[in-house]
Amino acid sequence: MSTAEVYDNIVIGAGIQGSFTAYHLVKKKQKTLLLEQFALPHTRGSSHGQTRIIRKTYDQDFYTHMMDECYKLWAQLEREASVKLYRQTGLLVMGPENSKSYCSYKSTLEKNKIPMVVLTPENFNQHITNVILADGDGAFVDTTAGVLYADRALKVVQGQFQKLGGVIKDHEKVIDIKTGQIVTVSTFAGVYQAKGLVITAGPWTNKLLAHIDLHLPLEVVKINVCYWKEKIPDSYNVKKCFPCFILTEGEEAKDHIYGLPSNEYPGLMKICYHNGSKTDPDQRDMQTGRADVDILRRYIARCFKGLIPEPSLVENCMYTFTPDHHFVLDRHPGYGNIVIGAGFSGHGFKFGPVIGKLLCELSLGEVPSYDLSPFRVSRFQSKILSSL
Ligand SMILES: Cc1cc2nc3c(=O)[nH]c(=O)nc-3n(C[C@H](O)[C@H](O)[C@H](O)COP(=O)(O)OP(=O)(O)OC[C@H]3O[C@@H](n4cnc5c(N)ncnc54)[C@H](O)[C@@H]3O)c2cc1C
Repeated sequence: MSTAEVYDNIVIGAGIQGSFTAYHLVKKKQKTLLLEQFALPHTRGSSHGQTRIIRKTYDQDFYTHMMDECYKLWAQLEREASVKLYRQTGLLVMGPENSKSYCSYKSTLEKNKIPMVVLTPENFNQHITNVILADGDGAFVDTTAGVLYADRALKVVQGQFQKLGGVIKDHEKVIDIKTGQIVTVSTFAGVYQAKGLVITAGPWTNKLLAHIDLHLPLEVVKINVCYWKEKIPDSYNVKKCFPCFILTEGEEAKDHIYGLPSNEYPGLMKICYHNGSKTDPDQRDMQTGRADVDILRRYIARCFKGLIPEPSLVENCMYTFTPDHHFVLDRHPGYGNIVIGAGFSGHGFKFGPVIGKLLCELSLGEVPSYDLSPFRVSRFQSKILSSL
């Protein structure tokens, strides 16, 4: 079936970034179509699952600055939809006291006057029970951080988009894109046209960019999302104010380890490794690498004595890494009416409201609200393949 209707914008991919982009576009009175390859909701991309960490703790100021507005926009969405999306728990940050990553997290918070509580080895267990602080590790709590209810947030933003007149067509995989002043997008079910196109296809980004002469240096990895059973129920529970945590690096870990208090499954705490095994997004379940689980097992046995060091449940998710782990938020270098939001490198959910706003601004030719130089396609100059 084909339609002669020309939309102002088509957004490909109804993960958190595409859904927020579509929401901002429709708020600006743009006639917008959001296309999704799977029937919604689904668990095959990067935005599913019940929880994500939200925090201002970053090692670059620009992320911390963007987070200021993110918190406001999340709260605005909560009010608009009368739904609770955020729970403040605080974020415990641990890491070798003199290491680069730990020091830069701490100094970004100090510089930006973000409320924090510094813990010492002596008082650590008065504040945080059931966790062992490794010798030589420092610790502080970013008190503004917490948990976002991810599945609920995705549903709410898609619902608000539709309420404002936006159209979602799910179970429609985009199989071709034709460039031009009017872009033509074909799915298995129809052909759609629009003045502008936004591609927010998560792990499938390069598969779509192949239709428009671009290949970005993105690496897709499968993450084993592990849940660990409490030996004594509620020792690490969200209701008992156990915080989220990040271990910046440690004896077992090159990349960071992070965890969220038990919440979605009673008695199970989510602790994951911030890396995984390379995969093709269409073959995710064929990737059975477990090196990340081994790292977590060792860490939990050493530092989380209140958990059984064997995951009770393992779910799947994917990250799409850029080489520098910063996002891609830019126009296509050859086609000005095509905008790309990609490479969220395992830390993009919390930024959804601002990323949607920025991709909407780029799409409408407006001056972006933030300096987008860290996020430009051109930083990969030597690594991008373009036949333009
Ligand atoms: C285990 C895990 C934990 C994480 N923890 C955090 C955290 O604590 N805090 C945080 O901020 N971030 C976190 N993240 C990262 C965050 O979840 C991601 O950055 C974010 O969800 C990426 O969203 P996206 O919209 O870019 O991708 P996706 O959610 O993958 O959305 C892309 C969509 O595009 C669709 N699509 C692709 N190709 C096509 C096509 N051809 N036609 C139509 N549709 C198509 C896909 O089906 C998919 O629905 C975590 C991620 C994972 C996996």
